Amino acid sequence: MTTLETSPSNFIRNIIDEDLRTGKHKSIQTRFPPEPNGYLHIGHAKSICLNFGIAEDYPNALCNLRFDDTNPLKEDADYVAAIEKDVLWLGFQWAGDVRYSSDYFEQLYNYAVELIENDKAYVCELNAEQTREYRGTLTSPGKDSPFRNRPISESLDLFARMRAGEFAEGSLMLRAKIDMASPNMKMRDPVIYRIRFAHHHQTGDKWCIYPMYDFTHCISDAIEGITHSLCTLEFEDHRPLYDWVLANISIACKPRQIEFSRLNLQYTLTSKRKLNALVTEKIVSGWDDPRMPTISGMRRRGYPAASLREFSKRIGVTKQENTVEFASLEACVRENLESNAPRAMAVIDPVKVIITNYDENQSEQLIAPAHPKDESMGTRTLPFSAQLYIDREDFKESANKHYKRLVLGKEVRLRNAYVIKAENVVKDDAGNITEIHCTYDPETLGKNPSDGRKVKGVIHWVDATSNHAAEFRIYERLFLVANPGAAEDVHEVLNPKSLVIKQGFVEIGLAQAEAEKAYQFEREGYFCADSKESTADHLVFNRTVALRDSWAG
Ligand code: ATP
Ligand code: MG
Repeated sequence: MTTLETSPSNFIRNIIDEDLRTGKHKSIQTRFPPEPNGYLHIGHAKSICLNFGIAEDYPNALCNLRFDDTNPLKEDADYVAAIEKDVLWLGFQWAGDVRYSSDYFEQLYNYAVELIENDKAYVCELNAEQTREYRGTLTSPGKDSPFRNRPISESLDLFARMRAGEFAEGSLMLRAKIDMASPNMKMRDPVIYRIRFAHHHQTGDKWCIYPMYDFTHCISDAIEGITHSLCTLEFEDHRPLYDWVLANISIACKPRQIEFSRLNLQYTLTSKRKLNALVTEKIVSGWDDPRMPTISGMRRRGYPAASLREFSKRIGVTKQENTVEFASLEACVRENLESNAPRAMAVIDPVKVIITNYDENQSEQLIAPAHPKDESMGTRTLPFSAQLYIDREDFKESANKHYKRLVLGKEVRLRNAYVIKAENVVKDDAGNITEIHCTYDPETLGKNPSDGRKVKGVIHWVDATSNHAAEFRIYERLFLVANPGAAEDVHEVLNPKSLVIKQGFVEIGLAQAEAEKAYQFEREGYFCADSKESTADHLVFNRTVALRDSWAG
């Protein structure tokens, strides 16, 4: 596998290099700041790899994990736990304890008071509709709130009483006093505190006023000594506000916000809000449904963490908006699994084979390598007897010479076993084949059998007397269109075949298959045992990825 050993450089790393060279910073501090309002998705993986990757590569650099938890209505402690698990699984460790913006609520409150004292913020009593009206539009300036120039002492008093719970939600808010005529709408006296009588997953009922994102994020960064605050491009026009807040309070640290383009992936939604809708509408089984582009979904599907890190390296970090082909993510998964996934055999659409010249009271234990190119993975045992299963697709009563599988009257090699010849078939009343009767040649066993036969086809099989029944979940893309985010109604672009369930058999050793660890089922694809629903009595295997890209071209 051709992996990039170290992360490639990018414009953000160039800025960091320069800041270290000029002595602006002695060491680098980044952070990953998810809002705990959903599970992390592949887009977050890009941001995680960027922020934690910088911390790994630069001397003494650190990366914090900070939950940006200023909106208690949408957030939940379950999301906090899921996000921590995902970051660790990706192979990263945050510096020190997990942090929360809510840890800083008291400091944030004090900085807000400082702004009021310096005539940089005021308590406004306009309602939502009036506020919108006063804000103006992209082409026309806003106008000043009638409360803008109220005495400082009045705002201080009202703000303290907002905190004390004296006012109803929506009746008062604290706004920064910047410029109602600014061409940047974000600078038109943005709201920095609002009243919310909501229970918070970290602070409980301590607060009934909550700071807004733009006020909270920059101060949290500064409190933590973040040097480079990396975020996606939609925050570009928030940057003047980020800088304004830090310039107008008495805090020494001035982190630099740098924006990069989001990851957009074909056939995939990368918005927690839209993914949440798939979950609540039960279009998928949960946030970790293996079809979901969430980190937990991909883990459950069998994607190795290393393949997601490799993908993040390959897509790079730029300011250009672009959409990455889904095939390039799957290519990273395949490349990893090609060398790391042990081989095994599974028959997904079984039909029975009877070996008529094999003693029906006998069986034997064949030995096969766990991986043909990696002896260190050892070997596995394959029972072989007079009854086997092969895949229905691997047999035809007659076929032309391009069909290199089992045909009546012709020979084929069973992978890791013998050459067999199809002699006749048994059918049910409806004409469906129920048994294929074959003979086998005992001289044809071994890796390079000296049988001198020119048998081109090799098919996989499972012994019928000792195996495990298994359910196979064959996943395809969840959406039929490359850009489902643009669809007016996602229901109309759902792929009805995104999950197809089949019942078959796996070789005997797979009862112990570790969940989420992919095997290559010979000729079928990569599969892993499902972490939630596979049990010893009912094995369930998820298809991680097909052997090759059937969507290409
Ligand atoms: P969503 O739009 O899915 O809700 P978000 O940006 O609101 O995502 P946050 O929890 O606020 O989600 O994001 C945490 C970090 O991950 C932010 O720095 C954000 O910029 C980054 N991030 C989110 N989505 C992507 C993406 N598609 N590509 C790269 N980075 C992303
Ligand atoms: Mg967000």
